[in-house]
Amino acid sequence: MKKATESILQHWHNDSHAAYPPVTVNPPVYRGSTVLFRDYAEMCKAGKGQLKGPVYGTDRFPVQRSLEEAMQKLENGAACRIFPSGLSAIQNTFLAFCKSGDHILLVDNAYHPGINFCQKILAKFNIETTFIPPAVGADIEEYIQDNTRLILLESPGSNTFEIQDIPAITEMARQKNIVTALDNTWATPLYLKPFELGVDISIQSVSKYIAGYSDVLLGAVTVNKQHERTMLNYYRRMEMYTPDSDCYLALRGMNTLSTRLKQHEQSALTIASTLVNHSKIDTVIHPALPNHPQHKIFLRDFSGSSGLFAFTFKEEYSEKKLGQFIDKLELFGLGYSWGGYKSLLTAGKQQRNTPSIYSGKTIIRLNIGLEAPQDLMEDLEQGLSQLS
Ligand SMILES: *Cc1c(COP(=O)(O)O)cnc(C)c1O
Repeated sequence: MKKATESILQHWHNDSHAAYPPVTVNPPVYRGSTVLFRDYAEMCKAGKGQLKGPVYGTDRFPVQRSLEEAMQKLENGAACRIFPSGLSAIQNTFLAFCKSGDHILLVDNAYHPGINFCQKILAKFNIETTFIPPAVGADIEEYIQDNTRLILLESPGSNTFEIQDIPAITEMARQKNIVTALDNTWATPLYLKPFELGVDISIQSVSKYIAGYSDVLLGAVTVNKQHERTMLNYYRRMEMYTPDSDCYLALRGMNTLSTRLKQHEQSALTIASTLVNHSKIDTVIHPALPNHPQHKIFLRDFSGSSGLFAFTFKEEYSEKKLGQFIDKLELFGLGYSWGGYKSLLTAGKQQRNTPSIYSGKTIIRLNIGLEAPQDLMEDLEQGLSQLS
């Protein structure tokens, strides 16, 4: 072994303070651009791509590899790669699978920055986008062209919660050789199994429930066997980088995902079913409530619901009046993102390209966190009383 490598190894792992390298429950976090080789022969092996572990800082250190493996197992896919954010995971899925001249179908309730990427960036590379209604099923056939390459689904969409008939869509796509990707952030792989419904690519904003504490931005793309090579080669060429420290937090979050999610689910259901009876509220939009337009599909495809839902008012209020309600809330933070322990609220009207029953309506979206549900409900009641 080369002296320069050996002395570092000795320093970290063999110094006089420890008889052997400490073994912690959680994996060690690495920081590094450079990985030192043991000798020239090992460097030559690395150059030929014959070395298994990381050979450079962008080559996925053990924590990232553990996170990828955990996501891949949870999703039950063939392989997973981690991206710097959920948006980056969406963008790079398009870049990995589409080329100039291709056509993409996008559900109209998809995460808006992802839609912007298609319209503003992919359009420059001659990739065309068509919007499809968010409750689409087998009728997706009407929108398919000869050059349709990829369909992006998001079910339920994270503002108005329409649900797509995923098996009907994936069956159609398979016949026509079209790749299907699903943004599975809302249900997480615990409550929806995309690959069992015929989806090719499952995308997660890890920033939400997986990490769970609003302190990390990361995304994940998990692919089935058929699309594994394309994704892995693309990822290697792009030399995507995600910091080990963030992957560590996401991996740590995953250990409590099922416990947290059960509580988010219960609290959200309690609050949603109470809000249904509120005199000011028109519709509570939650897939697990029987009045949801695609409730039957929800029961068929999902094994649970998470903590994000929305409602509309019977009457449209002015910005000032809405402000009186929203600013009165003490437990609900006012901010983007969701999936964390802190309850959050967003309010606004939807921009839509296809007809929607929610056009022109203010959507109040609640991220139900891990606070006591009765406290959250009391907070909402006292806020809503401002509207009288
Ligand atoms: C937040 C979100 C994203 C983007 O994730 P970031 O990690 O914030 O970039 C993608 N899809 C959905 C459904 C989201 O809610």
